[in-house]
Amino acid sequence: MTAKPELEQALDYYRQQYDEIGSRLLRLQQELTQARRDARRHRTTALIVQRLHECANQQEASTESLGETLIAVLVESLDIDCAGLLSWQSAADQCQLEHGLGLTASFTLPLSASPPARAASLNPETLPLAAQAALQRAGLRNWVWIAVPKAGQALLLGSRQLKKSSDDSTLEEADQAIAAAAFKVYLGLREQQQTFWALQAAETNYRTLFESAHEAFVVFDVENGALLDANQRTVDLMGCSLAELRRRPLIDWLISAERIWKRPWLCALAGRPQRFECEIHTAKDPCLWVEINLNRIHVGQRRLLLAVVRDVTQRRQSEQQLRHHAFHDALTQLPNRALILESLADAIQRRQQNSDYLFALLFLDLNRFSIINDSLGHSLGDQLLIAISHRLHRCLRPEDIIARLGGDEFVILLSALRQLDDAAACAERLERALVSPFALDCHEIYTSASIGIVLANDRYREPEAMLRDADIAMYQAKKRDAPYRRYALFEPVMHVRALQVMELERDLRYAVERQEFVVYYQPIVHLDSGQVKGFEALVRWRHPERGLVPPNDFIPIAEETLLILPIGHLVLAEACRQSVEWAQRYTAAPTISVNLSGRQFTVTDLSGEINQLVRQHGCNPALLALEITESAILEDTEAAQANLRRLHHQGFQLSMDDFGTGYSSLSYLHQYPFDILKIDRSFVQSLGQDVSKTKIINTIITLARTLGMLVVAEGVETWEQAKHLAVLGCDFGQGYYYSRPVEAAAAEALMNDPHWLRETR
Ligand code: C2E
Ligand code: MG
Ligand code: MG
Repeated sequence: MTAKPELEQALDYYRQQYDEIGSRLLRLQQELTQARRDARRHRTTALIVQRLHECANQQEASTESLGETLIAVLVESLDIDCAGLLSWQSAADQCQLEHGLGLTASFTLPLSASPPARAASLNPETLPLAAQAALQRAGLRNWVWIAVPKAGQALLLGSRQLKKSSDDSTLEEADQAIAAAAFKVYLGLREQQQTFWALQAAETNYRTLFESAHEAFVVFDVENGALLDANQRTVDLMGCSLAELRRRPLIDWLISAERIWKRPWLCALAGRPQRFECEIHTAKDPCLWVEINLNRIHVGQRRLLLAVVRDVTQRRQSEQQLRHHAFHDALTQLPNRALILESLADAIQRRQQNSDYLFALLFLDLNRFSIINDSLGHSLGDQLLIAISHRLHRCLRPEDIIARLGGDEFVILLSALRQLDDAAACAERLERALVSPFALDCHEIYTSASIGIVLANDRYREPEAMLRDADIAMYQAKKRDAPYRRYALFEPVMHVRALQVMELERDLRYAVERQEFVVYYQPIVHLDSGQVKGFEALVRWRHPERGLVPPNDFIPIAEETLLILPIGHLVLAEACRQSVEWAQRYTAAPTISVNLSGRQFTVTDLSGEINQLVRQHGCNPALLALEITESAILEDTEAAQANLRRLHHQGFQLSMDDFGTGYSSLSYLHQYPFDILKIDRSFVQSLGQDVSKTKIINTIITLARTLGMLVVAEGVETWEQAKHLAVLGCDFGQGYYYSRPVEAAAAEALMNDPHWLRETR
């Protein structure tokens, strides 16, 4: 009894041990199986992952090839015969097959149409019935469906065979895990691939932009200033390869001074974008103007400097041309008024800083240039101006500046003089340079100049004032008769005089408006009989403040300003009126001589004007004599000749006034139809004292006789002079001895009672 229970106990014990071992063995076996499965799963997964990576790393890899690889490797590694990669568009109601094995290319899987419902229906458990029917139609007995709605992608794996091991409709869990892992890796690689392509596209776009830009793009390293990259335009612009550009330091290419580019460069490095222009030289061009936009940029961790370079040479050249046009005279290419004023302002400023600095301004005006211009034509006039400018230029030092103000006016700035006398020496040099004639177009042209000089002076603050004074001095020089040394140094009194002239001009204009002129008459007396033959009409200005102003004080300005035209007309009209009055009253009516200015010949149709006045007043032309000086004729020889001939033909008497003061060319006297010759009073006044002048008077009278002219002696102040002239055969006398010029009434009284006849000697 006791043994059995012990045995049974032992047996139970061993049976128990055996069961335990058995179950442990079973567990071990199961664990081993699981471990084997896990190992297979890991191996398979690793293999698939490796294949996918290999595919993705291939150079020409595409999403298609990655998808195909995934499907192929899954079918290969798992116990399935169909696999498909499906995707859907946001608005579509079905999944499309992208890649598949064991499925027809047209295989689609219906889904819910609206996106939220579709996302829910993508679960394998909740695949819509239509989808499940489609799977059945495709013959799939068991299948696995893995959808990733975020990526719009799903993986369908399945088999058309019934599984031997189970009647389960799904794949083994391990295969499912492998498939899920592989799908995840695929999606990851796909995304990576797409990012890479996007980057590559961006890089290509950037390169295209970089390379096709019209501007040159140059990238520098901020740290060491090295050139990192440059586009094709840079290579074209610089005329050398990128490698060469990289080799040579930037400074090698720059022409512009450091101050031009250094500051913008440093500012740009500090992060402030800069734009500036500078000069560079390239392998092709010795000088290019470029505009540079400098910007600091960050690429990743690197700080770079991007220079956008644009060739602006053409624009610069146009600007320079415009500037040249603005500051130079188009004909001679010399600096113009604006530029010389700038240079003069600089010189004045320099003198203000250093009172030892000496300079002078010369104002040069050609004498009688208008005659050359009018007679030989403007084109030759232009050629002459150019030739003159060259000649003058050659007389100057390199630091001097010669400018043309316009017309025949030149201005010369003599800078940094050692002594002020050098200015006069230069003026003489310029005069000498113009002595020899210019040979132009088969013409030998002689010219000369009048030069005004202003010396540097602390009074001058404005360049215009200095130019004005040089001009005033030049006018003084012009008045000098000497053929040479026609230069004048400016003196302040000249300015006062110029101001007076200006005032006079203004007053004269008012005077013309208000008709402030009166005509006085001076008798012209028959030397033998002492009878009044006629009167010379002499204009006076009855100035409201200055009283009676003699003609010599205003006629020159009236001529310059052309106010002589209305004044001359007024005197002529008054003379006509007076002539008619006297003609009505006296049978032996006196002639009235009227002075004509040269301006009246050149500017107006003088004979027409006089005739109209004569007709208007109804006076007899034979009672009017017109007095003309030589210089008046010389101003415009042709117009003067034509007018004089016409007037003579119309019956007016013509007088050559002040004979002996001008060119006194007896030779051309016969070319003009003069009736009377008036000997200038300078000869008369030295009668009896200066033998040579007496002889001249004699010659003039003889010549006048030969030419059939009557002779009037001007400025007869004494009885002796009158007698002497009568002895010499002179016809008439005029002068203070008989009477000063007087008003019409007094003149008429003289006619009725010539008091000189009463005077006994
Ligand atoms: P002119 O035509 O030679 O006139 C003669 C000038 O000599 C007059 O001066 C007259 O007063 C002055 N005179 C006459 N006898 C004597 C004398 O014995 N001794 C001196 N020392 N002088 C004498 P006036 O009136 O001052 O005129 C000066 C000049 O002004 C004139 O010289 C003439 O060229 C010009 N002139 C006068 N009136 C007119 C005018 O209506 N039109 C123009 N274009 N010129 C005029
Ligand atoms: Mg006269
Ligand atoms: Mg005279």
